[in-house]
Amino acid sequence: MIQLKKAATPPASLSTTGHYNGQDVQEQLMRDQHGKCYLCEDKVRQHYQIEHFQSQANAPELTTDWNNLFLSCGYCNQKKSHRFPTLLNPLTIPVEEALDIQTDWYRKRVHIEVRQNIPGAESTRELLHRIHNGAGGMRTFREQMFYREFENELSCFLSALELYQHNPSPSTRAEVAKLLHISQPFLAAKLGELRAVPDLYAEFKDDVHWNRGSKS
Ligand SMILES: [Zn+2]
Repeated sequence: MIQLKKAATPPASLSTTGHYNGQDVQEQLMRDQHGKCYLCEDKVRQHYQIEHFQSQANAPELTTDWNNLFLSCGYCNQKKSHRFPTLLNPLTIPVEEALDIQTDWYRKRVHIEVRQNIPGAESTRELLHRIHNGAGGMRTFREQMFYREFENELSCFLSALELYQHNPSPSTRAEVAKLLHISQPFLAAKLGELRAVPDLYAEFKDDVHWNRGSKS
């Protein structure tokens, strides 16, 4: 999960139709979130849902509030449901700075730690833990499918980092930077890998400020 930036003007259909899932809402969210689920950061492709940050059950008055709507994948939408009413709001908080994601490749577990103890951090940590590691002790088939995709993408990133470390050239550097582009999946976890190696973090620190100020 990373900080997000939305179009300042709400899509017209929210006020004209009173529905939250108009074509313009879907298109704008897809553009603003670069086609990724706001929770797990995987590409959603055609399997997406419009997610209410404050669920319709908990906050019916926010059903068509533009700032309460996000694009999510079905997997995360189900994991979150109405059970996490106090998550970090990615529109106002750089979530990737508040939490740290580290992958234990040997045990195939993802460790999520709170770096900034602010309201919502612990609840967000718990939801991301369930998304990455499964809700029970063992991953279900679907949870395992998600983890495999996460693992594949992260291993590509680690390979690019390794190439860069062995041969720091403009082209190997560009390869790493490409995988850190805002349109790429699992950026918070990639940042976690960089944080674990201070030299690499220093080298790529300008590539890991997503959706801040005028730079996107
Ligand atoms: Zn997701």
